[in-house]
Amino acid sequence: MFRGVLIDKQDGQQSASMQMLSEDSLPEGDVTVRVAYSTLNYKDALAITGRSPVVRKFPMVPGIDFSGTVEASANPDFAVGDQVVLNGWGVGEGHWGGLAELARVPGKWLIPLQSPFTLRQAMGLGTAGYTAALCVLALERHGVTPDKGPIVVTGAAGGVGSVAVAMLSKLGYEVAAVTGRPQEAEFLTSLGARQILERAELSNPGRPLEKERWAGAVDVAGGQLLANICAAMRYRGVVTACGLAAGMSLPATVAPFILRGVTLAGVDSVMAPIAERIEAWRRLAKDLDIHLLESLLREIALEDAIAVAPELLAGQVRGRVVVRVGPSR
Ligand code: NDP
Repeated sequence: MFRGVLIDKQDGQQSASMQMLSEDSLPEGDVTVRVAYSTLNYKDALAITGRSPVVRKFPMVPGIDFSGTVEASANPDFAVGDQVVLNGWGVGEGHWGGLAELARVPGKWLIPLQSPFTLRQAMGLGTAGYTAALCVLALERHGVTPDKGPIVVTGAAGGVGSVAVAMLSKLGYEVAAVTGRPQEAEFLTSLGARQILERAELSNPGRPLEKERWAGAVDVAGGQLLANICAAMRYRGVVTACGLAAGMSLPATVAPFILRGVTLAGVDSVMAPIAERIEAWRRLAKDLDIHLLESLLREIALEDAIAVAPELLAGQVRGRVVVRVGPSR
């Protein structure tokens, strides 16, 4: 038996609780992992609270990420004792996830823990950190370099945003951080942001084209915020869009794309190919100040995950939440 968070649905009502689970109930997979850490991402909070239909099968162990040690393997690429990381692949949505002491998955979903990260640090970054790195890779792929001009990052005090601010600043970009929490200005400045913008300034409907400001953007918000950012891109600027914290809509015009050659680059972490994942983790290892990572982290115990999920959706969590599932290491 092992401990885990379980989401169930009875009479159309979804609920999450801590349970003792049987190893026999683990899903199919050729690698069993003793989970050391998981994390709370925005999507996990949606799943736990039932705010959006993230969970596709019941009962479900949430947790779209985990790090841990291989306990049993029928996969030639992984041996007992290997330290591994999993991000995405629908885990915690359609396949039992990381908020439990054991997980069983196809080995092709796992990547080796990237040096120099510990299992805790890897989950300190988690999907949010790895997605921030995917956004940086997308900016670079589309030709953005620090000399082209400033980069704007939305949801800057959240998970994806804070890692993006820290990474881009270390890479030499001038970063403008957009936040709904001006009280986090000092925190964002400590990550390297040179300018703090209040979210409200960018949240009202604007003109199809605004003054050219940004060479690049990392947007976790969507909605009017993303539309306004597109309108304020410099000629041939690049916007990476990865989130919907402000909404699913995109009330924009085509003007920035056809008149300024702006690129809107979508970023998805869930099904990204393994090679790109490994590259993103390699870049986190190289381009993120590991000492800053600690300032982004709040560690909670597995049994606290259910209570913290609503805080995350309310935008009250700074940086990243790492969930201690196994003994501390
Ligand atoms: P967090 O909850 O850690 O951060 C989200 C941040 O967004 C908040 O901290 C807040 O930052 C900002 N925010 C909250 N509400 C609004 C709003 N109404 N309008 C604008 N900004 C708002 O979440 P994550 O960083 O983990 O995820 C951010 C987004 O990215 C989510 O939508 C998530 O689903 C998506 N995502 C997508 C991935 C992909 O593969 N495409 C992978 C990972 C995440 P502040 O207070 O600073 O304004």
